[in-house]
Order: sequence, then C-alpha cells, then structure tokens
Amino acid sequence: MSTTIEKGIIASPGIRIGKAYVYHGDTIIIPKYTIREDEITYELSRFEDAIEKTKNELKDIQEQIASSLSRDMADIFTSHIMVLEDPLIEDKIRKTIIEKRRNAEWAINDVSLELMNSLSGIKDDYLRERIIDISDINKRLISNLQKTESTSLQHITDEVIVFAPDLTPSETALMDKERILAFVTDRGGRTSHTAIMARALEIPAIVGTMNATSLVKTGDMVILDAVHGRIIINPASETIDEYKQYEAEFEELEIELAKLTNLPAKTIDSEEIFIYGNIEIPDEMKIIKDHGAQGIGLFRSEFLFMDQSLPDEEKQFQEYRRVVEFFNPLPVTIRTIDVGADKVYAYTNHYRERNPFLGCRAIRFSMENIDLFRIQLRAILRASSYGNLKLMFPMITTVEEFKKARGITEDVMNELRRDRISFDEKIKIGLMIEVPSAAVNADILGKYADFFSVGTNDLVQYLLAVERTSEKIAYLYNPLNLSVLRFLKQIAEAAKFNNVDLSICGEMAGEPQYTMVLLGLGFRHLSMSPVYMHQVKKIVRSVSIRECEGMVASLLALEDTDEIEGVVRKNFKEKFDQA
Ligand code: PEP
Ligand code: MG
Repeated sequence: MSTTIEKGIIASPGIRIGKAYVYHGDTIIIPKYTIREDEITYELSRFEDAIEKTKNELKDIQEQIASSLSRDMADIFTSHIMVLEDPLIEDKIRKTIIEKRRNAEWAINDVSLELMNSLSGIKDDYLRERIIDISDINKRLISNLQKTESTSLQHITDEVIVFAPDLTPSETALMDKERILAFVTDRGGRTSHTAIMARALEIPAIVGTMNATSLVKTGDMVILDAVHGRIIINPASETIDEYKQYEAEFEELEIELAKLTNLPAKTIDSEEIFIYGNIEIPDEMKIIKDHGAQGIGLFRSEFLFMDQSLPDEEKQFQEYRRVVEFFNPLPVTIRTIDVGADKVYAYTNHYRERNPFLGCRAIRFSMENIDLFRIQLRAILRASSYGNLKLMFPMITTVEEFKKARGITEDVMNELRRDRISFDEKIKIGLMIEVPSAAVNADILGKYADFFSVGTNDLVQYLLAVERTSEKIAYLYNPLNLSVLRFLKQIAEAAKFNNVDLSICGEMAGEPQYTMVLLGLGFRHLSMSPVYMHQVKKIVRSVSIRECEGMVASLLALEDTDEIEGVVRKNFKEKFDQA
C-alpha cells in the first residue's frame, strides 16, 4: 500500500523517483569513563588536538564549497568555526574534564547536549535551527577524538533519496548530486542553512515533514514531488510511470525556462513587467541575480536579527552595502525589521502576547524600540550611497504612523548630515500595504509615500481574519477571495491616481497561476522567490494586458471563491497546459 505525505516545506524544487535511504546521522559511540587526576593534562591535550583537527576539517570543507559553489555559501561554515572558537564553550568543556574528571568525549557531549537543550526551548525558528550546527560540531569533535572514519552520506554508492531526522549543513554541502537524488527531513525550515544549501546545489528537497523518517524504510520506492510538496512511498506502478513522464517534462521545462533568463519580461502587447527577488539572507543574492531578477523587491531585514545578539550599526551597514553594491544599478528595497507574530526572536520574548499577529509587530516594534530603529535607519541610509536602495516600512496601519516613521528617518538623515556621513539624499521611502486599513486609505497614504509594496501574505490574513499559519482554517486563506481581488484593484487604482510606484511582494506574486490576475489588476512590478521567476516570465511573455484585464473583469463579476478559482485554474490549464 502506498503512503502519501503532504506535510513539509519545499526547500528546493524538482521531481525525483528512487529508493529511500534512511539516515540517522553518523553513528558515533561516546565512551564514558572517569579519569585520574594525573590524566587531566593528557585529556586536555586530546581535546585541544581534536579542536585543531576539526577546525582544519571545516576549513577544508569551506575551501571545497568556495571553489565548487561560492564564497557566500562557504561562509556558512564560518559560524561553525566561531562556535568551535567560542571561549565560553571551550571553558565549559575544560571545566567538565577537570572538575568532573570526565573523559573528553563525555565532556563535549554533555556540554553540547546542554546547549542544544537550551536552544530547543526557544520559540524561535532560526535559533532552533542552529541546534543542527552544534550537533554537527559535536559529532566531528568526537569522531576526531576517536580517530574513527565517519560513516557519512559520502559513502553511499547507489542512487538514493535520503530521509533523515535532520541534516547538517556540511552533510548537505558534501552531497554527491550523482548519487543523492533528493532529500527529505523531519525537521528544518526554509531558512535553515541546509535548505539554502539544497537550493544552491539544486538538489530537490522537502524539509519539516515532522515524521517522514518514521513512515519509510531503506529500500522503499519513493516519489519526491518538490513541486507540489508531496512524497509518495511505495507508489503503484502506474503512479511511477506517470511521475517518470512528469519528471522528464519538468526537467525539459526547466531547461527551456532557463533560456528566458536574459530575455525581457514583456507582454505580447509590449507592456514591460519587472521581476524582482525576495531575499531573506544576503547569501541568496547570487541565485536571484542568476535567475535574471531586476533587483530586490523585498529584503526581509529581520533575518539579520535572528541571533540572540543584535547586530550593531556597522555589521548591518556592511550587510546592506554588500547586497546594494552587488545589484547596483538595479534597485534593492530594504524593509525595516518585521519581528513579532510568527517571527518572535529571543530579544522580543517579553512581547509574548495573547494575540501576537495583532500585537506589537513590525513597525510597531520599531516604534517601541526607537534606539534600535534609529540604528537600523542609520545603517540603511549609509548603505544607500552605494547603489540604488529603497527604504520600506512594514505593517503600516495608519497615515500618522507612516508620517511618524518618515519623520524619524528625516531626523536620522539630519544626524548623518551633521556627522558628514553621506547617504542618498533622494532615497525613495515607501510602505508595505498589508493591513486592510492601509489598503482602504491607500489614496491618502499615496500623498506621503514614494511607493507601495503589497504584502498579500498578511493582507489576506488580516482581511479574511484567518491566521496565515493555521492549518485548521487554511481553507479560508485564499488570495482569490473576491474581497482580496477588489482590494488589490483598489490599491492599484490609488497608486495610479497618486502616481506612486506599486509592486507586490507576497507569495501571490510568485504563483504562476495568479500572474494573469495580477497583470489584469494593474500590477507591473512583481517580487518573488527565484524558484518561480522563469515560469512567471514565460507567462508574462505569452499574454497581453488586454486579455488579462478581460479575465479580471470576468472574475470580479463572480461571487464564490470556488468559482473564481475554477476560472483561474481552467484558464491556466488551457493556456499553459498545466494543472
Ligand atoms: C507579506 O505579508 O506578504 C510579506 C511579503 O511579508 P512577510 O511574509 O514577511 O510578512
Ligand atoms: Mg507581511
């Protein structure tokens, strides 16, 4: 009997068919024994040798990744080396050896477990995902102490789809694409280093399935469909045949689509459409440029703030500058920090609220933490002299709020002028339209803002009163609901009336089925994750604005979301032969 898993996050798209290989990580045995006082010095020197050896190993991996992928990807291992060099951790292990008289393997394992346990309690995806980095280092240190050969994924000789509770970034980085067709993990999210590696290596992957490893055995036949987010274990032979054809078609399509990279995104009636990338961490910028993006439409700056310690002005400035210089003269829209709600980080813990999505989030958090806000503004403004940078505020609810944020920015500009620090005096300042009140008042906001970027992920949640992360009421969360379409039309009209630049950066912008709808509603600037850029461009190049407008007019005359969805799907299938 076949089993289908539909939970999980597509970390890297593609379709693969192959045998499962369930991998529980390097099996390391941790010897535990107490040492005599006269053995302490020897034990400490064993520990120091293991650190040295592990550091060298990580540097080798770094070199390997830098030459096969990129320097940015290699930098992921800098944080591993930093953990190894952390004097607090090293001291703790030394103390455990000296005071508890434990052998080095035992001491390392104890301290790592303690660290991983304290991280696992944190309600913060990014920090939780760092557990895997520590586990990686722990394993390396212990196997270096024992001088054992690792039994890692590098020893696989057959073509397999790997299933693992989680994978370390180094395990992913060293995967041989010829043998490892794809991978699935129980844990992890889209922003884990493992997911980023998978995208960079173009290995199809689904992460965060919760329990896939418990549903599969090594040797089971598996279809991994990282296009629709589906894993089929022991499928019927007809399903395999169907997917074999689908796999071949998908690959052909990818090759075909890649040819579009340098072609303009112009409709058949010559309307120019702009495709930008959404970026979470600067490492992703090369992938976005390689997909032919015309800049960054949304830089979610909060991902720089995920560490427990907040980056200072200089560190932020360097990161913003790196991205802005890389894309210059193309635009990079940096959004000020959007924490709170589902993005609760360590330092916002005291903001735990009964209703966090309606709480102190995004610009509200910045207003509450003015010092932090001013530091970020200084860093962004300083970076603006290195390219084409636009500044954007998230979750603006009232006109006063936008005016206030703009006023604080002007104040910071005065401070920079006083300090003779240059910035782009003509910098464009805009806002995300993602709260219904901002959509309703878009005509007024347009008098004060240089641009709007519509965040449909939140707009849909707030308009329909459906939490965007809820699985239970997900059936209500539909961007094709008539109220959403009416809202989007109204925003587009307000932007046009006020001569304000308009873009859209919610996931809706990157969903090929919605491209014609958005063009018909009046959107010309679409910002999305790179994975769908080619497909969206293909659609743009094969439609006319007139037919998109015609389609939208017919959608707006309907009432039921199901009906609207039916028309969109049918049209998409007929026109592009895709379900
Ligand atoms: C949105 O809300 O659509 C958006 C792009 O912002 P985020 O997903 O980061 O909330
Ligand atoms: Mg949002």
